[in-house]
Amino acid sequence: MPKDPTPSAAPPTDIDVLILGAGINGAGTFRDLCEQGLTCVIADKGDFGSGTSAAPSRMIHGGIKYLETGQFRLVAQSTLERNLLLRNAPHYVTPLHTVIPLFSWLRGIPSALRTLFGSTTAPRSRGAVLIKIGLAVYDFYGRRQRVMPRHALWSRARALREIPGLTPEITAAAAYYDAKVSHPERLVLELVRDGLAASPASQALNHATLAGTDGRVVQLTAADGRPLALRPRIVLNAGGPWIDRINAALGAPSALIGGTKGSHIILDHPALLAALKGRMIYFEADDGRICLVYGYLGRVLVGSTDIRDDNPDTVRCEEDEIAYFLKELRELLPVLTFDEGQILSTYSGIRPLPRSDAAIAGLISRDHSAPVAEPEGARAMADPVAGRRQVDNLSRFRRGSGRNRAGPAGPRPPRQHPGLADRRRARLSGGPCGLGGRHRRPHRLRDRPRRAVAGALWLRGAGDPGPRRAGAAAAGRPARLVRGRD
Ligand SMILES: Cc1cc2nc3c(=O)[nH]c(=O)nc-3n(C[C@H](O)[C@H](O)[C@H](O)COP(=O)(O)OP(=O)(O)OC[C@H]3O[C@@H](n4cnc5c(N)ncnc54)[C@H](O)[C@@H]3O)c2cc1C
Repeated sequence: MPKDPTPSAAPPTDIDVLILGAGINGAGTFRDLCEQGLTCVIADKGDFGSGTSAAPSRMIHGGIKYLETGQFRLVAQSTLERNLLLRNAPHYVTPLHTVIPLFSWLRGIPSALRTLFGSTTAPRSRGAVLIKIGLAVYDFYGRRQRVMPRHALWSRARALREIPGLTPEITAAAAYYDAKVSHPERLVLELVRDGLAASPASQALNHATLAGTDGRVVQLTAADGRPLALRPRIVLNAGGPWIDRINAALGAPSALIGGTKGSHIILDHPALLAALKGRMIYFEADDGRICLVYGYLGRVLVGSTDIRDDNPDTVRCEEDEIAYFLKELRELLPVLTFDEGQILSTYSGIRPLPRSDAAIAGLISRDHSAPVAEPEGARAMADPVAGRRQVDNLSRFRRGSGRNRAGPAGPRPPRQHPGLADRRRARLSGGPCGLGGRHRRPHRLRDRPRRAVAGALWLRGAGDPGPRRAGAAAAGRPARLVRGRD
């Protein structure tokens, strides 16, 4: 990619924020910023929501497995978001009755304690006592905006009665509720459309190519070949597993992502579908990895693997992953037959996880952050949108998902506050923003440890003439951002 591309004939268009990547995170941010009166452009090299956001297990879970690694704040946030999405986006997000088969009463307590205190190598296996404690904590965290029943522990006899094909090896089973999303790609599209409706001057471009930047103006090529020159105050890199590639293309090389590949298969298996009775079985595979199987649009979704990989452009489900799924299903449900002929399709994605040395891929943190790279001379005030403010905005967005659709509380009016857009613009360009104590917030955030899954690259603000230094300095100023967790 050329660093200083031939500029387009038209003068550059000044905008507030350029978002690169239109997955769930880019689209959510776009919607929220548009609603706050900012002018944004969101651009994706493919279709909206066609990246990782089209390849998940389609669960809107509250993060039960993060309990194991002691990420309680993440569980609290995820359970609340799950409950809010159940209320706000019921056309896509519905409850998912989940059953965990249990193979012992006491197993796993020592390794759970080691994992809780930071070990990323402890062998995993979870017995009934451990799961019972975990689910009680999970219920506690999920109490805010609760819409679903609490968990239950089933005896072996009841579990075999409820799911007749289940392996008789079980000791008991736990049942609880999480949620699933039927069409995550459409949720992405709705967010983009909400954003456009709220901010008519904003634009959403799919199949748009990033042609380069001189540190001030970003050149894009639209789907129809039209060159576009944009002068944003901020570029937000929402490229998911492509984040490092995008940063490199913008002249700010980074090594933030240490992704893992996850694959799924879709089975045409009426007997399995009937045995599941609308439930998901969330089970532990031989290697300790948690797998899942549940009915999806009249078929059965099985997933997922967790294999280190970082190339989202070439990712695909391999033969050994298929063999792994079929073997695990045969052990879980021995009365049913499973073979490759039942597989209708497969899909894979790369989890945009932070780089990590964890021996077990499943123990890499799923928490989020947003490092900021700034040009030299940028004023410290210049990062609230990519900092905690961003998180606040995102949570509010998520709470508002589907705000125009009548929910239990009825449709919500658009959120527009007099002067808010101007104050945000002032902060984006480092100028005075008049928000008093909030000025100090970004500094606190910058002191947090590095755990990055998303990056934001600062370009010079349009009103902030300074030396060209796009993102060369100060990479890795973290703050939490975004969502979408496996
Ligand atoms: C196997 C698996 C299972 C998962 N299961 C779940 C689950 O059950 N529940 C859950 O909540 N989360 C789950 N996740 C996690 C979730 O899918 C991701 O966290 C989320 O989709 C990431 O969204 P994103 O917007 O950050 O990235 P993406 O959706 O990948 O979006 C990034 C976008 O950037 C675009 N892009 C790349 N390069 C450029 C460029 N140069 N210019 C412009 N655009 C570019 C891409 O085309 C892509 O559309 C799972 C992930 C995987 C892999």
